Amino acid sequence: MKKLIALDFDGVVCDSVGESSLSAIKAAALQWPDIFNTDIAKDRTEELVEKMRAVRPVIETGYENVVQIRCLYEGVTVLKMLECWEHMLPQKMKEWQLDRAELVTLFGRVRDDWIQDDLSGWLAPNRIYESVASPIQRAMHEHEVYIVTTKQAHYTELILRDMASINLSADRIFSQTISGRPKSEVLEALAAKHTDVQEYIFVEDKLSTLEKVSKDPLMSSWQLYLVDWGYNTAVERQRLEGNPRIQVINKTQFAELML
Ligand SMILES: [Mg+2]
Repeated sequence: MKKLIALDFDGVVCDSVGESSLSAIKAAALQWPDIFNTDIAKDRTEELVEKMRAVRPVIETGYENVVQIRCLYEGVTVLKMLECWEHMLPQKMKEWQLDRAELVTLFGRVRDDWIQDDLSGWLAPNRIYESVASPIQRAMHEHEVYIVTTKQAHYTELILRDMASINLSADRIFSQTISGRPKSEVLEALAAKHTDVQEYIFVEDKLSTLEKVSKDPLMSSWQLYLVDWGYNTAVERQRLEGNPRIQVINKTQFAELML
């Protein structure tokens, strides 16, 4: 039985919050040097990175990290951010006169410069979740495996290759950083491309993404899974009890799914 397997990247394959938070601080130092290029801000790096880990479940795309770091610096609490990020983001973008495309470019440039200057230093704060890489490597022999991510494709490719020994070709990594297209659209396109598969599997760590996908009638043949690791909360996982469309899985169940 051949499967079409679409995997989210950050929070499913890779714990990247250390790297994205440090990149955000670097980007903030360029965007707002008066605030972040100071000793006061540098002394708060550890505290800010720790808070960034806590608010990670609400992030959709990397550039949001830059806005979050300033909010946290200015005293917005973790709890408040977890509750209202969806509304806070457009409000702060407006207040600080930020442009989405410019922030995407800035955040990308910071990462590119860091990678170019010091690849191992950039890779180091990323971590591949334990027991996740080998089931994916096995699945690649039997099934059609894709990564569908909001991270830019070449960062994803680098981490997979250098940290997980997974060589996925560029046409197997779909990134929506630039397009902002919903994941359901990408999944539909993949399903249309692979008409010979018997099962359609989508694995995510972000509940709101799965909920959006589950409401799309065109996605009815897809099996939807939320991992019990990555960037979701216990409250969110509990919310899924009795939900027939989205199943919570642990690492063992993930490995079985990849068979
Ligand atoms: Mg994710």
